[in-house]
Amino acid sequence: MTQISDILEQVRSYAPDADMGPVMAAYLLAAKAHAGQTRKSGEPYLSHPLAVAMILADLRMDVETISTALLHDALEDNPLSMEEMTEQVGPLITQLVDGVTKIGKLKFRSKEELQAENFRKMMLAMSRDVRVILVKLADRTHNMRTIEHHRPAKQITIATETTDVFIPIANRLGITKLKDELEEICFKTMHRDAWDAITAFLDRTQSDRATYIAETQKMLEKLLIDEGIEGRVSGRAKSPHSIHKKMNAQRLSVEDVPDALAFRVILPDGGQPYAVLGGIHARFAPVPGRIKDYIARPKPNGYQSLHTTIVGPEGRRVEVQIRTEHMHRVAEEGIAAHWKYKEGHLALSPDDVASISRVRELFETARDAENAEEFMETVKVELYADEVFVFTPAGEVKRLQKGATALDFAFMVHTDVGMHCVGARVDGRMVPLRYELKSGDRMEILTSPSQSPNRDWLQICKTGRALQKVRRFLREEEREAAVRIGRDMLDSELKKYSSSVKKVLNGQPLKEFLSDRPERDADQLFESIARGQVGLSTICRALLPEGEFERLRQNSGTLGQFLNRFRRPSQNPVLITGEDGVLVNYARCCSPLPGEDVVGFITRGRGITVHKATCAQLSSLDGARQIPVEWDIARGGSHAGQIRIYCTDRPGLLSNITAVCEQQAVNILTASASARTGDGAVVTLDLSVQDVGELTRVIRNIEKIKGVESVERVTG
Ligand code: MN
Repeated sequence: MTQISDILEQVRSYAPDADMGPVMAAYLLAAKAHAGQTRKSGEPYLSHPLAVAMILADLRMDVETISTALLHDALEDNPLSMEEMTEQVGPLITQLVDGVTKIGKLKFRSKEELQAENFRKMMLAMSRDVRVILVKLADRTHNMRTIEHHRPAKQITIATETTDVFIPIANRLGITKLKDELEEICFKTMHRDAWDAITAFLDRTQSDRATYIAETQKMLEKLLIDEGIEGRVSGRAKSPHSIHKKMNAQRLSVEDVPDALAFRVILPDGGQPYAVLGGIHARFAPVPGRIKDYIARPKPNGYQSLHTTIVGPEGRRVEVQIRTEHMHRVAEEGIAAHWKYKEGHLALSPDDVASISRVRELFETARDAENAEEFMETVKVELYADEVFVFTPAGEVKRLQKGATALDFAFMVHTDVGMHCVGARVDGRMVPLRYELKSGDRMEILTSPSQSPNRDWLQICKTGRALQKVRRFLREEEREAAVRIGRDMLDSELKKYSSSVKKVLNGQPLKEFLSDRPERDADQLFESIARGQVGLSTICRALLPEGEFERLRQNSGTLGQFLNRFRRPSQNPVLITGEDGVLVNYARCCSPLPGEDVVGFITRGRGITVHKATCAQLSSLDGARQIPVEWDIARGGSHAGQIRIYCTDRPGLLSNITAVCEQQAVNILTASASARTGDGAVVTLDLSVQDVGELTRVIRNIEKIKGVESVERVTG
């Protein structure tokens, strides 16, 4: 069992001048809080916080973290109060303990979507102080070491949770030491038969392997001496878990896993890893395609090393990793490796701060998320995915997750670039928004001021950051539309009582009405109207002078009569202006344009929707609610028309198309491009036009552009 003296000794070894007062105070308080308690194993409870503190002392963490570890369970199920703790060990440690306790109350299961809110809370705790999660990881590590004291079913639950939640976090923070240990125990717990088989094989071949490792290690050491290079060499068999992973990935039996042996050459800081790699390759044949340079391109969690697989003595394949002492420490301890001491105080270099803040960045993005679901989208993808590296035109390297698209890249460059992105050039070749990035691509983003996100983008974006921006834009756009529609609806209703939105907007009755409502202002009220969450007559009764609503309702001009007028087939057509009076929308299924024959359809609560007379949708709609409508040509106004352009994928084509629209003073609302088979592309444009004649002229002129095969109008 770990003793407090072991911990103090270990901390002194890396922070000789640190003040041990807090550690002792925390220890005494923990001993008091856990007095008389025992663990499932029968050991005194205090053995657990001591073991957790030792794990963190091995990671060379600061005094606050060690103290937090000693107290991490002391607030739980104990009469100890936060006030008392603050008195004894100060506010910082107490806050850290409180953070760990809060994470401990969250229940995680394998379906992370169900647990989104819990996961989010944990991430938020982490983004405040990453030390909270380091203590939690150490806590989980010790609990996993003693997992056999639980019932088998409970063991599986705990191991599943560890696999789904804690291992990805340990991986993201780069704490390989703890990640590997957690993976081994989870593997042993969840796949006992496979674990037994592999360990039996390893035991059976133990002596042969030990000899081989010792001999190969000697050869590598001699190689270093011959080359005049200082450094140390270690060799080991791979762990059962990593052998199992290889067996699964390559469908091999345990005997056939080729490079189950791994060697490490660790050089003093400032040493030359590439020179060592050259020396090794001069002596042993490298296996093609197995050289990985994580020094030039570190893993996202900061890991750096050179990897190669060589054909060692007796023709056996062995993996060799080459790194410096500092890289080794980062490889083992990840973010924890950046905690450094100078004269008893934590001393972080700018590099260390950058490394820690890279991790924090992820959690900061997550904190901006508006709800649990959006949060999961943001975090999940970034926590679990691999990455690609691409270049900006200036030669700067950008790192994105595997599967990210040109559009994701645009959002990474700048939010505004993403919002207005119409396509990209990769090494000079034009590609659509959905182009999947490949490492080494040189990306140039094309933008247009008239471009803006649409719902398709939710399918195209793969990074949490871009998805969050697009989703927020769409939500805002939808909200603005709802406010507009709700305002129009209320206005046309009020007009029947000789009032208007303008007249009631700043009046006392509206203020009083809102004071009883969940909506905080008029805009929110308009939004609720459009969404059908509040009735128009309720509002009118409240906003009109006392008795006015009832009086006018008896007379003509009621809503019922208003609609009845349209139900008579002989009724004169309504003029479509979309301005005042009746609320008008244009059907998305057929996008009618002025000049075309149209029919109106009275919706429930959202005014009149105008369809083309030939629209296939009409036959499925209630005939009684259809009304004749006509365009009020004199009023003008602009309408959305969508066209699809089939063309060859040649540079400059998009700007030719844009030029045609500009010449005719037609605005492009949105533009998107996608590839089709061969070198063809499809460009879809949403245009703002006066009428069908104008759209036809645009189509004819685009058809004249070289490289355009055909242009068609899109009508659902
Ligand atoms: Mn604990």
